[in-house]
Amino acid sequence: MDFRHTAYIGIGSNLGNKKRNCLNGIEAIEGDHECCVETKSPLYLTEPVDFEDQAWFVNGVIKICTCLDPVGLLNRLKGIEKKAGRVSSGIKFGPRILDLDILFFDELILNTEYLTLPHPRLHKRRFVLRPLFDIEPDLIHPVLKKNIRTLLLDLKDGGRRIILFE
Ligand code: ADP
Ligand code: MG
Repeated sequence: MDFRHTAYIGIGSNLGNKKRNCLNGIEAIEGDHECCVETKSPLYLTEPVDFEDQAWFVNGVIKICTCLDPVGLLNRLKGIEKKAGRVSSGIKFGPRILDLDILFFDELILNTEYLTLPHPRLHKRRFVLRPLFDIEPDLIHPVLKKNIRTLLLDLKDGGRRIILFE
């Protein structure tokens, strides 16, 4: 199989055993024959953003290679979320057992209703940038043309709290 694509996946959970849920999500991706996990960031405990009246999250990022196309990968990730027991709380950005987002897929720029690449909010979120910085600080955002290190330094999020979990 030709694992020609590189993707970065953001992982998050704020329901139940959050660390276990994240680790299960990573293990499910590792168990997928069309994905290969290359690097895992540490996990962080992070203060919620957007919808703030909810429990803190556990977040991390992994780098994978895959032979799937972007939509194929998103469908695979949605399948893993569903199997983990994810149901909609009815609140956008609300509580979830497992959230798997595609942050980057090669240098692809895509804007469809189903999938936006790079992920449209990644540059505003410390809980994504910090673990990304741990594994790939020099990675360039193909739209903003800045690396992760710079995006993290530029971030104005009011000092959103994020604590190393492991
Ligand atoms: P969020 O992760 O933003 O809190 P959801 O996980 O509920 O929200 O995702 C909502 C929808 O966002 C998904 O059904 C998916 O089709 C869409 N989406 C668009 N771009 C992406 C992306 N890069 N990664 C994951 N989902 C995405
Ligand atoms: Mg998501």
